[in-house]
Amino acid sequence: MATYKIAVLPGDGIGQEVTPQAQRILQVVGRAAGIGFEFEPALVGGAAIDATGRPLPPASLSLCQAAHAILFGSVGGPKWDNLPQEQRPERGLLAIRKELDLFANLRPATCFPMLVDASPLKRSVVEGTDLMVIRELTGGLYFGEPRGREDFADGGARKRRKRLASVDKANVLVVSQLWREVVTRVGKDYPQVALEHVLVDNCAMALVHKPTHFDTIVTENTFGDILSDEAAILAGSMGMLPSASLGGTGGKKGLYEPVHGTAPDIAGQGVANPIAAILSAAMLLRYSLDRGPDADRVDAAVLRVLEQGHRTRDIHSAGTKLVGTVEMGDLIVSEVEKSY
Ligand code: NAD
Repeated sequence: MATYKIAVLPGDGIGQEVTPQAQRILQVVGRAAGIGFEFEPALVGGAAIDATGRPLPPASLSLCQAAHAILFGSVGGPKWDNLPQEQRPERGLLAIRKELDLFANLRPATCFPMLVDASPLKRSVVEGTDLMVIRELTGGLYFGEPRGREDFADGGARKRRKRLASVDKANVLVVSQLWREVVTRVGKDYPQVALEHVLVDNCAMALVHKPTHFDTIVTENTFGDILSDEAAILAGSMGMLPSASLGGTGGKKGLYEPVHGTAPDIAGQGVANPIAAILSAAMLLRYSLDRGPDADRVDAAVLRVLEQGHRTRDIHSAGTKLVGTVEMGDLIVSEVEKSY
């Protein structure tokens, strides 16, 4: 039986509430599908500062380096806001990305059919949205030179509908012209992928005007930061958005975390939506472990629980059943179990 070491870093605030629910999902999948998981907890962020004086203690970094994948919560909060930049909780996350060379950030933004009305955009605009923003994470606009090219043995993240929009500002920025040349060259090696080049300002408009046009968007760090936050609106709530940061040899090492922060306004109340963390665990199965069919079961279980009308407070509306963090976790765990 394949056994994987998973570093579990819940961090602060609601990170400590939603990450255990994501871990439970992996445990259930492990039992049902015969995957061995060794979960090892570690401190990061404000919790690590309080315990050790550092946002990423050496023991946490060593664990992340030794693990197959990292299940991450979120870091930060008002308690640590007055520390100097270099000592703040967020530095813990940045240090992991840097030390592990996690160079690609994947953020899916899906508008689930039953949550269409939770989006501030019109139903006719968001319905059917299912896109992924792939953002280059460790370099960016100001670095200019590509560091090299690496082809993943299995085609890396080519797990979608094979329509790729490369976003740049090639009409104005010289570094963007270079980006466009590189993407065009790489694109020629993948004739099965339909590649288009989109200027970042047009992309920003199209995302709120016609999001269903997009399948996969690839862009550099700064543009990706802004566009992926814009895409977040399409899903209706921060509590629904997972992410993966991939890197290392072959791009298999990954850090999986919900897009949201520590939500100090609701932390400790048991009301946070664990779905973003749970969908991040599904991404871990898909991208670090190559267990696509198991990831599909988790995604489907989330959909079924939503179809049954269960909602945490952030996505609750009249006529649906209000549940807390653990109860939402229970419901999804039970649906995953039933699917095997
Ligand atoms: P946030 O994402 O924590 O919260 C924004 C709003 O969304 C809040 O009203 C919150 O209650 C709600 N929300 C977020 N996640 C939710 C969930 N799962 N269920 C229900 N509601 C949810 O963003 P913020 O308030 O700007 O930041 C709070 C702290 O988190 C700050 O210290 C910030 O630096 C940190 N942060 C950390 C990360 C990270 O660790 N990757 C990312 C973003 C923000």
